[in-house]
Amino acid sequence: MKADLHLHTSASDGALSPEALVRKAAAEGFELIAVTDHDTMAGVARAREEAARQGIGLITGVEFSCGRQGEVHMLGYGLDPDNPVLQRFFETRGTQREARAEKMVGQLYEAGKPVSMQRVRELAGGVIGRPHIAQALVEAGHATSVSDAFARFLTPGKPGYVEKEIVTVTQAIEMIVNACGVAVLAHPMELKKGDMALEALVHEWKGQGLAGLEIYHPSAQNNHVLFLEGLAQREGLFRTGGSDYHGESVCPHSLGYGLERWRTAEKDTAALLSAIAEKQRV
Ligand code: AMP
Ligand code: ZN
Ligand code: FE
Ligand code: FE
Repeated sequence: MKADLHLHTSASDGALSPEALVRKAAAEGFELIAVTDHDTMAGVARAREEAARQGIGLITGVEFSCGRQGEVHMLGYGLDPDNPVLQRFFETRGTQREARAEKMVGQLYEAGKPVSMQRVRELAGGVIGRPHIAQALVEAGHATSVSDAFARFLTPGKPGYVEKEIVTVTQAIEMIVNACGVAVLAHPMELKKGDMALEALVHEWKGQGLAGLEIYHPSAQNNHVLFLEGLAQREGLFRTGGSDYHGESVCPHSLGYGLERWRTAEKDTAALLSAIAEKQRV
C-alpha cells in the first residue's frame, strides 16, 4: 500500500497546485494521500475533486505551527474545513503572516538585501511563508539557493527573521479535536529532544487529545523509527507516515521519500481512517 500523509501545495509553501500534486501522486501509484498545508485548508477542496477524478483516497489535513517558538508542528486529519473556529483562525493567520512578511521584507531592505513584496506575494499565491521570501532573495541575486537564503537571512538571529504568531500545542490539539479531526504530532525528531524528554511531552499531549505520531518522516533515522514505534505502542497512539513533500524546486526530496520503511501502512491507515469516520459520526 503506497500512502503519503504529509504533503504541501501552493496553498501554502508547496510548489505544485493541489490538482498537480494529486495527479503526480496518482501517476506514481499512491493510493492514499493527505494534503497538510501550513495554517490553511484552502487547497483541500481542489485536491479532493482531483483525487476523486484520479480514483485515489484523500484525507483532509492541515499542519499547525505551535509551541513556544512555533516549532512544534501538529497535523490535523479529517477535520471539517467549514468549522467556524478553524475558518476564523486561518483568516487571522493569513493576515498575520502577511504582516510578518512585510516586516521581513523591511528588515531585508535595511540589511541591504531588497526584495519586492509584490513578488513575494506572487510567489506565495496563498499563505505567505519564509520559503517565498527565500525564493525572492534567490531571484534578486542575494542568495544562491533557498537553503542559503534561510541560513544567512531567515533563521533566528539573522537579519530577515521575524517570529510568527503561534498557538500552544494544547490549543492546536483542541482546535483539531473540536473540528472532528485527529491530532498527530508531525516529525517528532525535529523537536530535537532527548528520548526521555520527548516521551514525557508525548505523554502529556496524549492526555490532551493527541492521537498519533508521524513516525515515518525524512527527519527520522532508522534508530529513531524504532524508538518512535515503541513510544506509539506504549502510549496507544496511531502510527503515520509522510514525506513532507513541497515539490522538488523547494526541497529535493521526492514524493514518498523514506516511506518504504512504513511497512505497516495498510494497517495504520485503516486505523486512522476508522478513527476519522468515528469522529464524524458523533
Ligand atoms: P514559516 O512557517 O514561514 O516560518 O516557514 C517555515 C517553513 O520553511 C518550513 O515548514 C519549511 O517548509 C521551510 N524551511 C524551514 N527551514 C528551512 C531551511 N533551512 N531550508 C529550506 N526550507 C526551510
Ligand atoms: Zn512548508
Ligand atoms: Fe512541519
Ligand atoms: Fe510540513
